[in-house]
Amino acid sequence: MKLVKVKGIVIKEVAYKDNDKIITILTDSLGKVSAIAKGAKKTNSPFLASSQYLVYSEFVLYQNTGYYYLNSAAVINTFYNLRIDFDKLQIVFDMTKMINSVTDENQDCEKILKLFLNTIYVLDKYEKDIKLVVNSFKIKLFSVLGFAPRQDKCSNCSKPLLESNDASVFYDYSSNTFLCEECKTTVDSKNRIQISKATYNAILFVIRSDFKKIFSFELKSYVDFELFGQVFTDSIISGL
Ligand SMILES: [Zn+2]
Repeated sequence: MKLVKVKGIVIKEVAYKDNDKIITILTDSLGKVSAIAKGAKKTNSPFLASSQYLVYSEFVLYQNTGYYYLNSAAVINTFYNLRIDFDKLQIVFDMTKMINSVTDENQDCEKILKLFLNTIYVLDKYEKDIKLVVNSFKIKLFSVLGFAPRQDKCSNCSKPLLESNDASVFYDYSSNTFLCEECKTTVDSKNRIQISKATYNAILFVIRSDFKKIFSFELKSYVDFELFGQVFTDSIISGL
């Protein structure tokens, strides 16, 4: 029986048979895997804590007839503050649903795991603006998956956007590109949103920064940032 050691976080758990659970783990080296935790529902089970939603552990797994099973597990972080905060938990629940829907079983998830761990670590330890955290997570998630919009230049006239004196930048979600003030009329107003220059800066910062740094910025208002996060994510998901 070949044993494999991974680090991972449980992003879904479902009851299976009388005492078992099937857990979906986002792992560092096997991608997203489903594993059977035998006896995990019993109160004296060694998997009682590690098989729970949002618990990050080191797992030892083995494969049998095409399924992964837990052999042993050691908890690394339970994100305790997060799990007792209903509002934050709901936000994280939506994040794990999103991760589940955009990843396939066994697909390499190392970057997504890093992003998700950093995100819930911040939610667990700090009181950051929720809109900043949620929308940075979404923008980075879809950037990691290869959907970052073309940056720097107006997609119509190639004017550098960061250096321009325009007060606003326009995002065309039908083509996932940015436009300058002058070129906004080249796109149907139904297909574009207006965002402040500060928000545009923040979006580029999130796309380009290391996972650990993506939340280290502040905006006076998160209205445009949230709007972009929503529109960008919706347009990518509807096209998947
Ligand atoms: Zn332009």
